[in-house]
Amino acid sequence: MAKLNCVTVLAPAKLNLALDVVGLLPNGYHNLDMTMQAITLYERVVLRRSQNLSLTLPGSPVAANDSNTAIKAALAFFHYTGLLAGVEITIYKNVPVRAGMAGGSADAAGVLVGLNVLYGAKLSMSELCALGAKIGADVPFALMGGTCRVQGVGDVMKALPPCPDCWFTVVMPDYGVSTPEAFAAYDKVGSSTHPDCEAQEKAIRAEDLAGVCAAAGNALEECSGARDNEAIKTALKENGAVTALMTGSGAAVFGIFESEEAARSAAEAVRAQWPQVYVARPDRGGARVISPKWML
Ligand code: ATP
Repeated sequence: MAKLNCVTVLAPAKLNLALDVVGLLPNGYHNLDMTMQAITLYERVVLRRSQNLSLTLPGSPVAANDSNTAIKAALAFFHYTGLLAGVEITIYKNVPVRAGMAGGSADAAGVLVGLNVLYGAKLSMSELCALGAKIGADVPFALMGGTCRVQGVGDVMKALPPCPDCWFTVVMPDYGVSTPEAFAAYDKVGSSTHPDCEAQEKAIRAEDLAGVCAAAGNALEECSGARDNEAIKTALKENGAVTALMTGSGAAVFGIFESEEAARSAAEAVRAQWPQVYVARPDRGGARVISPKWML
């Protein structure tokens, strides 16, 4: 078989259809209960064989240094496989940063999946997830994708059937949120509302979109103090969203819609006030190679 020189990977962003904090673990981390949904908004990760390790993120302000999740993923892969090789990584970022949409985790997942194919390493999904978990709590989900119930610190993951067909309008305000700061705020203030992840799982299994929306919620929302949260949710609901909530630790807020038409018309209605708006739908997969085509 011909040696591969370059692969391109699509790595989906995620939304939290529910996020609850159910306590603290013995190690001090927050014990979470979440429904995570991959969406059709993608990081495009291009990997080329090279003797050296390099990273460029055209047009993105994210630093391409050793703290970048893509570099961490490449180093973890080479360390684990023992391969004496490098890679030239180019990431075309489409997922907003500090949004609660796990763009950095998607980049790490994209690098792991891409290197596995580029170098024919044949690591299993569980090996990739174990490598990914050391880089970030959301990386295993970024590898698995689809719809999952995720618990613990993000390490206990159960694949669910696909979320009932729907559309999302995602609004990114003109500020981001740091995840550690969001949890620190939660520790001070707590939350009086908690989503019902169990009921949401049942609704997903029953293909009941109204039930999915009724059980949706985010325990980090109340304490987030994010300036535009309430205004964005109100605007999305006034424009047809069945429900609206913050994703992850913020700052992005999204509405769930029954049709593409409704989601797009809501996006148009809020664009004047919040220009960074995305329309997407559920994606059934995780990070995957899309070229060369003969690989598929
Ligand atoms: P999560 O939902 O996992 O908390 P997020 O969407 O809130 O994710 P990201 O955009 O994934 O946050 O990453 C936030 C921070 O991580 C950024 O401020 C950035 O400095 C750092 N970072 C490291 N690598 C990356 C990367 N490849 N892409 C984006 N941010 C990265």
